[in-house]
Amino acid sequence: MITQIAVSDITRNQRDFFKTGKTKDVDFRLAQLKTLRQAVVEHQTAIIEVLKTDLNKPEFEAYATEVGVLKEIDYAIKHIKTWTKPKKAAIGIEQFPGFGRIYAEPLGVVLIIGAWNYPFQLIISPLVGAIAAGNCAILKPSEIALHSSHVLADIIQKYFDPAYITVIEGGIETSQQLLAEKFDHIFFTGSTAIGKIVMQAAAKHLTPVTLELGGKSPCIVDSDINIEYTAKRIAWGKFINAGQTCIAPDYLLVDKTIKQDLLNSIKKCVQGFYGNKPATSPDYGRIINQQHFLRLVELLKGSEIIIGGEADLVERYIAPTVIDNVSLAEPIMQEEIFGPILPVIEYADLNQAITIINERPKPLALYLFSKNKNLHQRVCRETTSGGVCINDCVMQVGVSSLPFGGVGESGIGSYHGKASFDTFSHYKSVLNRGMWLDPKFRYAPYEGKLQLLKRIIGQ
Ligand code: NAD
Repeated sequence: MITQIAVSDITRNQRDFFKTGKTKDVDFRLAQLKTLRQAVVEHQTAIIEVLKTDLNKPEFEAYATEVGVLKEIDYAIKHIKTWTKPKKAAIGIEQFPGFGRIYAEPLGVVLIIGAWNYPFQLIISPLVGAIAAGNCAILKPSEIALHSSHVLADIIQKYFDPAYITVIEGGIETSQQLLAEKFDHIFFTGSTAIGKIVMQAAAKHLTPVTLELGGKSPCIVDSDINIEYTAKRIAWGKFINAGQTCIAPDYLLVDKTIKQDLLNSIKKCVQGFYGNKPATSPDYGRIINQQHFLRLVELLKGSEIIIGGEADLVERYIAPTVIDNVSLAEPIMQEEIFGPILPVIEYADLNQAITIINERPKPLALYLFSKNKNLHQRVCRETTSGGVCINDCVMQVGVSSLPFGGVGESGIGSYHGKASFDTFSHYKSVLNRGMWLDPKFRYAPYEGKLQLLKRIIGQ
């Protein structure tokens, strides 16, 4: 266990490094992004192996969702020069002579705390923004994906000066020790409950936070769809990483006229993806630990299981599972599932589906399957969520030009692409006045000047 003194020393060293001004140089940042890229490329085999150990993550998924963070690094490398350029701001005639500029400046020393379900991506992706914006960073991966945490710490230590970027490994106590320190920004990914603790700790130092939290992301399925494609996309989005994805479709709200066809099709997809025995499939993950396994098995009790349902504690295996005729009062509809269980609720009228969504905390993601463009607009207009993906699941997270984040209980702030740069920057406004002219108009005595002022202001 690290001591509080050691934690304070590390943050002080980073503060000293930041004060040297090195990170303000855009070429320095660019070089560090390239180093990070090289670190991920050179260690991709180790990353993929360790994800297998922690989560039985199939190589394909590990590459797509974790090593794939390379796309975010490349996007930042491509755009950093534009992002860091001062922006001109229009000023009014009353400011003449003068001009306005907006400068993006780094915040200083930032803390990034990650969750266990995508243990690399959830640390590296915000780190890209922190580096691009010119900050020093302390990274605290989740202790629950322990092997991934060790590998991440090794990689970062190998490529970066700890006074600039470092990993501090540990569990809740370590996290609390870090939160006792003063940072210039805290970027947290995890549950809503712990997000509140993080925000409370940050408030003591008036530290701004980004909270990337979870919640129950609904998936509406209208009758006007291609059943086969819809079933495939839902089954893929729900069962990758064995359902342990913050933006997995948590539950289905299905038009009752097509429900049976959709469920039959989902069943076929599950067989097609993982065979008749998903337990033996190399392409299906495992539950992270026994505690989460037991929580999920408890949620399944008394359910009408129509697909899957098998569970093996020793293997931490829960089959891809679909449950039907779920009531809104059941425990499974009270908390984020975060596992491979898909509850299905039917509706007769879209209003019912929208009401169910709006009566619950604002979700991180909302999915809608429909060919009807009017419905796309209606659902977007009448519901609130961190983001929306129409006619697919989970894919929105991979688009660097779309800010990713929650709203209400699913989070505060956003990141990816330019949004990551913005998150870790302070936009400093600078008004620069010319000294060659100084009209008397604004100075007392004011007599006779009010009418002109009103005209300038536009009254
Ligand atoms: P968690 O909140 O339990 O833990 C997240 C981090 O907080 C870990 O690093 C942990 O060490 C630390 N932590 C735990 N308890 C703490 C405490 N009392 N004080 C200070 N720090 C503490 O979350 P988790 O189980 O790792 O992840 C699952 C949750 O994260 C789900 O709700 C999921 O939806 C959410 N999540 C969100 C996103 C997103 O991008 N919005 C991505 C992945 C996961």
